[in-house]
Amino acid sequence: AKADRKRGLLFFSQQMKQDQVQRSELESDLRNALVNAEFEVYYQPKVSATDRTIIGAEALLRWHHPVRGMIAPTEFIPLAEKQGIIVEIGAWVLRQACQQAQIWHDAGYPFFQIAVNVSAVQLTESDFSAVLSKTLDETGLNAQSLEIEVTETSLMTDVELTISILEQIKMIGVGIAVDDFGTGYSSLNYLNMFPVDYLKIDRTFVKDLGTSSDSKDITLSIINMAHRLHLQVVAEGVETEVQATFMQENACEYLQGYLFGKPVPADEFTVLLSHK
Ligand code: C2E
Ligand code: CA
Ligand code: CA
Ligand code: CA
Repeated sequence: AKADRKRGLLFFSQQMKQDQVQRSELESDLRNALVNAEFEVYYQPKVSATDRTIIGAEALLRWHHPVRGMIAPTEFIPLAEKQGIIVEIGAWVLRQACQQAQIWHDAGYPFFQIAVNVSAVQLTESDFSAVLSKTLDETGLNAQSLEIEVTETSLMTDVELTISILEQIKMIGVGIAVDDFGTGYSSLNYLNMFPVDYLKIDRTFVKDLGTSSDSKDITLSIINMAHRLHLQVVAEGVETEVQATFMQENACEYLQGYLFGKPVPADEFTVLLSHK
């Protein structure tokens, strides 16, 4: 038994070493990925809850690694944040997304809204509002067509600084959404200090709507309090008609999830737009 345990431990530490090697390989690969054009922005539709028409999309980053194939953002974004290279990657995503939104505007969808994820590092450790203005300027997109998504947890890392940066962003006219709401520890009243416009209810609550009365209660109270704070609500991860109907009947404004479409490359999204 002791020998087994030892073998187990040995295996475990070898596995850890292997994971670590893979991670540090990825870290150096990340530096080249931008230069080698291995990134691609995918777009997931966001629909109006009342009539289910596409009102916009969320930009979601994809990495086509030359050896390992497609790598999920949940795997490489944390590495990019740790290295600080998220600042460059994030600026690139923003530019791509704004450029693409302007293309869709020109193609006959002038009210199309684009949402871009911005990590805390990007928000607080670069001159983000300057990057934002410059990008809008150079792509020709109007500020009202853009919104940024900042996670609830990243809002709380440096409250004072974050508020002042978000205020600059608001002055430009760009919308602000609180992402993954309900997973952090902030109260909704606390949220009132931040100049935000939208609240995205995290997928974990939406997922259990059909089965858990707790998730229903939490979702209802989030929607009600959000509306009291004059925020509009987006439900993420909507996969079933039951979930969509629940959100619609309870006055949630926007829906996003596989029920309406997975994230897809720009050209596929163009097809989706033209069918609706
Ligand atoms: P997120 O911002 O919460 O994005 C939603 C995630 O849920 C996306 O995963 C999306 O593909 C997935 N999703 C959407 N609808 C459904 C559904 O109905 N069911 C299920 N099971 N999943 C759904 P993805 O694309 O893998 O992105 C994961 C996370 O990586 C994002 O979570 C976001 O935090 C981060 N991320 C992605 N792109 C960027 C980026 O450009 N910049 C930054 N800073 N973070 C990004
Ligand atoms: Ca998001
Ligand atoms: Ca989210
Ligand atoms: Ca989420």
